[in-house]
Amino acid sequence: MPVDFTDSAGDAEYRARLRDFLRRHDHELEHSDSEYLSEPGVERIEELRRTQALLYDGGYVGVTWPREYGGQGEGAIRQAIVTEELARASIPGLVNHLGIGMCGPTIMAHGSEDQKQRYLRRLLRADDMWCQLFSEPGSGSDLAASRTKAVRQDDGTWRVDGQKVWTTFAQYAAYGILLARTDTDVPKHRGLTMFVIDMSTPGVTVRPLRQMNGASEFNEVFFDGVVISDAERLGEVGEGWRVALTTLMNERVAIGGAGNELGMRTDSLVARARERLPHFSTGEQVRLREQLGRVLVENLAIRYTGYRRLTALARGQTPGPEASAGKLSAVRAAIDGAELGVRLSGPDAAFARAADGDWRWHTTQASMPGLAIAGGTDEVLRNIIGERVLGLAPEPTPGKAAR
Ligand SMILES: Cc1cc2nc3c(=O)[nH]c(=O)nc-3n(C[C@H](O)[C@H](O)[C@H](O)COP(=O)(O)OP(=O)(O)OC[C@H]3O[C@@H](n4cnc5c(N)ncnc54)[C@H](O)[C@@H]3O)c2cc1C
Repeated sequence: MPVDFTDSAGDAEYRARLRDFLRRHDHELEHSDSEYLSEPGVERIEELRRTQALLYDGGYVGVTWPREYGGQGEGAIRQAIVTEELARASIPGLVNHLGIGMCGPTIMAHGSEDQKQRYLRRLLRADDMWCQLFSEPGSGSDLAASRTKAVRQDDGTWRVDGQKVWTTFAQYAAYGILLARTDTDVPKHRGLTMFVIDMSTPGVTVRPLRQMNGASEFNEVFFDGVVISDAERLGEVGEGWRVALTTLMNERVAIGGAGNELGMRTDSLVARARERLPHFSTGEQVRLREQLGRVLVENLAIRYTGYRRLTALARGQTPGPEASAGKLSAVRAAIDGAELGVRLSGPDAAFARAADGDWRWHTTQASMPGLAIAGGTDEVLRNIIGERVLGLAPEPTPGKAAR
């Protein structure tokens, strides 16, 4: 059946209202600029939180989430319209993206009603920032090997000891979802439990790590005798692996599947090409144009495939293994786009603040290898596609890769 991409009358009106909202609040909203990629910093995070709160108050965050948890109860098309219009107005991605993309959907699927009421609305408004405490020094792809321990105390609370690593935005987060080992006597996938942790609890230490793009977005997090109430358990004891899978599938959709462009916008790539192409030889120009065409086509394909996934999500379906394919191709397109931006920019791309101000290509390029690792490495995603989409024989390894 052919797909009609023209807005219905209702959608056109929705889009017009949103554009009007963005115009009226333009001076209060943060716009994309290079600062964010290079080093968010506390002040910048605060500004981005205010932008998210303003958008939330206008009804443009949590578009497809249920109304009882602070969402708008709208369909996937409306979410796609919001995503498009925010990009068009150069509004950066929502700062609490880990909360919205991963922690929130996990709480919605596995949390108690009390947890949903306490956390979800505030998360959508960025009143509370969230982080995802899964990876450890000894377990990334093999997440089920997590060793951070949670031991039940006589009074029913849990005592947590251990270490997580690569925890994005832990330094800004009020809460995190924490995967911990609660039973060492059963096979590894069955001895895990998920918790919500208040990051200000005594015994939690967060240490930022420097990345090669210059930013310190992710962290080491240490837990030393941290006490968590049993009311903060997310799902049943021993069910942590199932809960984590919900997070991971949503993470793959959030990174690669919602039709958004990663790290760079194709219109700025086209503008860069228009400006820089005349400086290249005729032969080079042909090659660069071909490369640009490929990147644009890849991005279009990803965007429209993303809309299909959004539709499934809005119908309440849980993202399946196909989310892995979405993430793989979106990251590949972003890597190609960033490389082209750097090639077009030449030496300008190498300086943090080049004279013409166009310095984000090298930062973007330096961020891309991280995207190919976060939320499941390329190799692990290919395993998932091979085994669960194509039905090939599973890898002959004793520990099952899951990230
Ligand atoms: C930018 C960024 C942000 C991140 N944010 C977070 C976060 O907020 N929270 C969090 O918990 N984690 C986060 N991570 C961590 C991320 O989830 C892990 O880095 C990832 O799961 C890979 O784990 P690892 O680094 O331990 O690598 P390993 O699992 O040790 O993998 C090393 C290499 O072996 C390959 N490999 C491993 N297993 C297999 C297999 N079965 N078959 C084939 N090849 C395999 C991998 O592809 C990789 O090339 C982030 C990472 C990055 C880069």
